[in-house]
Amino acid sequence: MSDPSVAGATQWVHHFDEADGAARDLLGGKGAGLASMTAMGLAVPPGFTVTTDACRAIMRDGAPPADLRDQIDAAVAGLETRSGRTFGRGPAPLLVSVRSGARISMPGMMDTVLNLGLNADLLGVLAEWAGDEQFAYSAYRRFLQMYSDVVLGVEPRGFEAILEDLRERAGVEDDSKLDVASLREAVDRFRQYIASQGVTVPDDPRDQLHSAVAAVFASWDIPRARHYRRIHAIPDDLGTAANVQMMVFGDLGEDSGTGVCFTRDPATGEKARFGDYLPRAQGEDVVAGIRNTLTLDDLAQMAPDVHDELESVMEMLERETRDMADIEFTIERGKLWILQTRAGKRTAAAGVRIAVDMVDEGLLSHEEAIHRIDPAQLEQLERPRIDTNGLPPAIATGVAASPGAAQGMVVFDADRAVDERAKGAAVVLVRPETTPDDIHGMDAADGILTSHGGKTSHAAVVARGMGKPAVTGAAKIKVDLGARIAHIGDVTITEGDHITIDGTAGTVYLGLLPLIEPEETPELHRVLAWADGIRSLGVRANADTPEDAAKARAYGAEGIGLARTEHMFLGERLAIVQRVILAQSDSERSEALEALRQLQATDFEGLLEAMDGLPVVVRLLDPPMHEFLPSPLELEREIGDLAQTIGSLQQEMRRRQGEGEPLGDGDEEIADLERLIAAKRDMIGRVSIWAEDNPMLGLRGVRLGLMVEHLYSMQVEAAVEAVVARLDKGGNPELEIMIPLVSTVRELSRMREMIEGIMDRVANETGHALHIPIGTMIELPRAALTAAEIAGVAEFFSFGTNDLTQMTFGLSRDDAEGLFLGDYLERGILTSDPFQTIDVEGVGRLIRLAVEEGRRANPLIQLGVCGEHGGDPASIAFCREVGLDYVSCSPPRIHVARLAAAQAELPPPERD
Ligand code: PEP
Ligand code: MG
Repeated sequence: MSDPSVAGATQWVHHFDEADGAARDLLGGKGAGLASMTAMGLAVPPGFTVTTDACRAIMRDGAPPADLRDQIDAAVAGLETRSGRTFGRGPAPLLVSVRSGARISMPGMMDTVLNLGLNADLLGVLAEWAGDEQFAYSAYRRFLQMYSDVVLGVEPRGFEAILEDLRERAGVEDDSKLDVASLREAVDRFRQYIASQGVTVPDDPRDQLHSAVAAVFASWDIPRARHYRRIHAIPDDLGTAANVQMMVFGDLGEDSGTGVCFTRDPATGEKARFGDYLPRAQGEDVVAGIRNTLTLDDLAQMAPDVHDELESVMEMLERETRDMADIEFTIERGKLWILQTRAGKRTAAAGVRIAVDMVDEGLLSHEEAIHRIDPAQLEQLERPRIDTNGLPPAIATGVAASPGAAQGMVVFDADRAVDERAKGAAVVLVRPETTPDDIHGMDAADGILTSHGGKTSHAAVVARGMGKPAVTGAAKIKVDLGARIAHIGDVTITEGDHITIDGTAGTVYLGLLPLIEPEETPELHRVLAWADGIRSLGVRANADTPEDAAKARAYGAEGIGLARTEHMFLGERLAIVQRVILAQSDSERSEALEALRQLQATDFEGLLEAMDGLPVVVRLLDPPMHEFLPSPLELEREIGDLAQTIGSLQQEMRRRQGEGEPLGDGDEEIADLERLIAAKRDMIGRVSIWAEDNPMLGLRGVRLGLMVEHLYSMQVEAAVEAVVARLDKGGNPELEIMIPLVSTVRELSRMREMIEGIMDRVANETGHALHIPIGTMIELPRAALTAAEIAGVAEFFSFGTNDLTQMTFGLSRDDAEGLFLGDYLERGILTSDPFQTIDVEGVGRLIRLAVEEGRRANPLIQLGVCGEHGGDPASIAFCREVGLDYVSCSPPRIHVARLAAAQAELPPPERD
C-alpha cells in the first residue's frame, strides 16, 4: 500500500517498491529505473520518488502543493520501516540522498545532496554505528558542503579552499586521507564559513529534507540545466522528479567503494563491460573525475565475488532493458548495492554498433534498432579523424573518452571558450576536470581535454552526449588555471597555443595535425539499408557542384532537390553577371550572357553527370540584386582614395614646376585616374537604380527573372543544352527546373511559357524528345495560400522553409539569430528555433494547406522540402505526416535524413 494520503488527493510520492517502473513521465528516468530494479529483486537501497507532477505544480503555482510536506513525512516513516533505520535518531541513523531525475537524463546538470539527515548531535551516534569516527566526520563535512551549495547557494570555492589548506597541512593528496582531527577542523571551519555567508544549515533532518527536495526541483531551472536542454532539444516544461534514497556508504573502509559501469563501451559500442571504480569513496567522486579511477579488472582482483555479482547485474539489466545500461553502484563493507541505472549515453558510432549487434544477438528487431539511434547524432560520423601516418610523438596520453579528432587553440575556461568561438576560432577546452558549470564552454569548444577523470567522468559523459572529441585523465598534464598555462614534462602550453586531440586513441599532440575524412562503417551501412527499406520519404541533397553531388550520392542521396545557381556566380564570374545587369548596349549584354551560358552549361552537365539517372532540380537565380552588384559605399571609398592620389600627384607636379625639374608623364597619370573616377561615378549611378531598402523583400527570385530580360532564359538554355549534351553521350539526365520566390500564379505561367518555348525549340533542333518538369518553390505565405492555382501550372512544389519561416514570422533569418532569437528561446517566448525545426502551428499550417489544396488541384504534383529543415529529424517527421514526397538537405545530413525518415514511418518506441 502506498503511504496514506487524503482520499482523492494527488499522490505526489511513490516508494520504489510500489511504483510502476514504466511510468517514466511521472517518476523521471531515475525513479522509474529504481522502481524497475527493485521489482527485479536487485539490491537497491529503499527510497521514494517525489513526482515530476509535484515539480510541475510548483513551477505552475510558485509554491509546493499543500499536502506535499505531509506526504513526504509519511514516506520517511515508510522508509524507516523498510530500512530498519531511524531518521534523525540512533542507534542506526537513516541518512538519505536527494537527487534529481528527469524523464530524459541530463547527466550532472541538476543538483544532488548526499548524507542528508545528519547534524552535530548525531555525529557521535553515526560514528558508533559505523565504528569509524573518520567516516562520520567525513560524511558530515560532505553534507555541509553539498547542502550549503545546493540549497543555500553558498559559493563552493570557499569549501574547496579550506580542504586544500587542510590537505596541504596534512601532506595528503585527497580528502579521503584526511584524519579525524583534520576533518573535525574542516567541519568547524565549514560552519564558520557558512555562518559568514549569513545562512545556516538546519539541524532538524525533516527541515533539511523538505528544503533539499525544493532545491532539487528548483535546479530544473538553473542556467546550466536550461542550456543543456536547449542543446539537446529537451522541452522546458517536463520538470524533474526528486529521489530520496537510503544512503549506503562507499567510504566505510577498504572493502567499500563506489563506481559507474557500462554494459558496453560507450565510445565504440564494443561488447565489453566497462567501468570506473574508486575504493573508499562516495558517489560524486567518480563522476566529478577528481580522483583517477581503477578499472573493473582491478575490482575483480580486489573483490572477485562482488565483481561477479556486478557482472550478473549488468547481464540482467541489459537483457531486461534490451539496451546498453549505465549503472551506478556502491560497495558497502563488501555488499554490492545498485544505486541507479539508465540507458547509457553513447557516441554515434557506439549507438550504431550497439543497435546492429543487438539485432544480431536477437535482442532487437530492425525497427527497434532504428529507433535506438539518434539521427541527429549521425552527423558526428562525418567528423574527420586524425591521420595516423607519420604522426609526431604524443605529448600526453589519457583516456579515449569520446572519439574523433579536434584541434584548435587552447583555452582554460568556459567563458573564454565561448568568446573565442564567437570570434570564429576553433578551441580545445583544457581543464583539470569539468563540472556542470562548464557546459556552455564545452558546447562552444571543438574538443575537451582534462587531466583528471575516467571514461565516466563529467567531461567524458557530456562530451559524448554532445558528440565532441574528448581525452580525459591525461595525468601528465599539470594545468595551472591561475597562470593559464599547462605543463607536460618539459613542454609548456600557454593559452592560445594550438593542439590536436585524438579522442579515439586518447592522445594529445602539439600543433594542428592533418586530418582525414571518415568512411562509412559496415554497421552504419546496414542500419541505413534497413532504414531505406522502411521509409516512404525520398531523400535528396542540396548541392551546387559536381563534387558535392557525387559526395551526396555516395551518402545515399536520391537526386538533387536544390541546386542554387547563384552559388555558381561567385569569384570572377561575378563580373560577367554585373555586365549583364549593368550593360549599356544590347551587344554588351548579349556578349556577357553568352559567356555565362557557356559556363552554366558546363556546370549543369557536371551535376547531371554526377546524378545520372536521378532527378536534379536546378533553381534559377534567386538572391537579391544587390548581392550581385558592387556596393555604392565601397565605390565612393575607392573614388576618395583615387582623388587623394591625384592630389598628391598634383602637389608633386607643382613642386617640380617650382624647382624647374622635368614634369614627366604626371599629366597623363592624372588623366587616367580621372577617367577611372568618372567610370566609378557612372557605376554608382547605374548601381543606385537598383538600390533597395529591403532587398530580401525586393527584386529577387522570379521578380529578377521577369525584370532583367534574358537572365533566366540564358540559364534555361544552358540547362537544356546540358541535357542534350548528356543524352548525346548516352547519359540519362533527369533535369527539373525550379522558379524561386513565386507569389502569384501569373509569375509562374510567364516563366513556364518561356521555358517551354526554349524546350520546344531545342527539341526541334536536336530531335530529342525533352521532358523537363517545371515547378516552383513555395517560400511566401501568398504562394502557400494560393497553392491550388499555382499547382495548375507546376509539376512540383518545393517548400523553401527558410524563406517561408522568415516571411511568415516577419523575422529576418540573417539577423534574428544574432540579435534576439537566443533571448527569445531563453525566455521561453519561442520553444525552439523555427529556422532549425519547422514551426508546426504557423509555418506548418501553411505547408499543410498548400499540400492539401495543391494536390487536390493537381493530383500528380510532386512535393518536397529544400529548406534547412529537410535535414532536421523533427521537421522530417512533420514532412512525412503532411504527405510530402521527399526532403532535400545538405550532403552531411543525408544519413540523418534517411534514418529520421524511417523513424517517422514507425510507431513511437515504447521507451526513451
Ligand atoms: C529556402 O528559402 O528555404 C531555400 C531553400 O532557399 P534559400 O535558402 O536559398 O533562400
Ligand atoms: Mg529561399
